[in-house]
Amino acid sequence: MQKPYGLMLHHFKDEKHPDGQGAITSDQFADIIEFMGPKNFLGPQEWIERAIKDRLEPSDRCITLDDALLCQYEVAAPVMESYGLTAFWFVYSSVFLGNIEPLEIYRYFRSVRYPDIDDFYTAFFDQLDASEYRAEFRAKTEGFNPATYLSGFSFYTDNDRKFRYVRDHVLGPTRYFEIMDQMIANDAGFSVQEAAKSLWMSDAHLIDLDRKGHVIGLHSFSHPTAMGALSREKQQEEYTRNYHHLSNVIGRPPMTMSHPCNSYNSDTLAVLDNLGVEIGFRANLEPSNASRYEYPRDDHAHVMQKMGLR
Ligand SMILES: [Zn+2]
Repeated sequence: MQKPYGLMLHHFKDEKHPDGQGAITSDQFADIIEFMGPKNFLGPQEWIERAIKDRLEPSDRCITLDDALLCQYEVAAPVMESYGLTAFWFVYSSVFLGNIEPLEIYRYFRSVRYPDIDDFYTAFFDQLDASEYRAEFRAKTEGFNPATYLSGFSFYTDNDRKFRYVRDHVLGPTRYFEIMDQMIANDAGFSVQEAAKSLWMSDAHLIDLDRKGHVIGLHSFSHPTAMGALSREKQQEEYTRNYHHLSNVIGRPPMTMSHPCNSYNSDTLAVLDNLGVEIGFRANLEPSNASRYEYPRDDHAHVMQKMGLR
């Protein structure tokens, strides 16, 4: 079925920006654009205009980049420039105000401080085995059979499965964060502040993108993983703080957004409506109510699968 949708992108890699799950090179990005057809990509302004008039064609595509990552600016923007293309950039604001987003820091820490992911897993399990959760960790992983956990994900290794099991079913988020923070604190060669500088863009990058015809949109303040589970007041605060930050930097109110982790409910849509947002994007192609805040997107990994690359 042909319908208009956005291409959703996150991490890019080069000599400066390390590899990590799902990261692609500038050449791979160019291959994706070629595969999808450069002529099918509308600029973000054009997409907004057609969307508002309900005139999007089934073959229409747009490029979207989530999470305000510096690798997007340094690796992806030049590729788009070479095609004369512009994109939607969905930006969460907390990281512009000196905060950090732990999951992104952990991903970076794993990538730059361990030769490969199995080295990281070994260090992680060692840290856990030296922690106050040692007995629980040992008891709950005794007899753990990786073959039966997350068996639908054929590309996971045994260690991938054990790590995810321990993170999600033994530790839970708070204790998982605690273990990761301990590992980072024990590593004198890693600075969270330095990592943040190489991970996220600054206001100047947003201004430059805006000047070049890209469109900067909302993506919440602190990037909660389950926006739809928050109270209406909390959601209001998330999007209002994000809205004020972007309005101040760009000099006019943001008209677009994407839902962090694809999580939202009817309160979210009401909050966006109150803020005067024109259109929003989901994080997948699945059928939805197809309101103006639910335009579909496809992850680049799926496109690469179709290309036979993954
Ligand atoms: Zn996001």
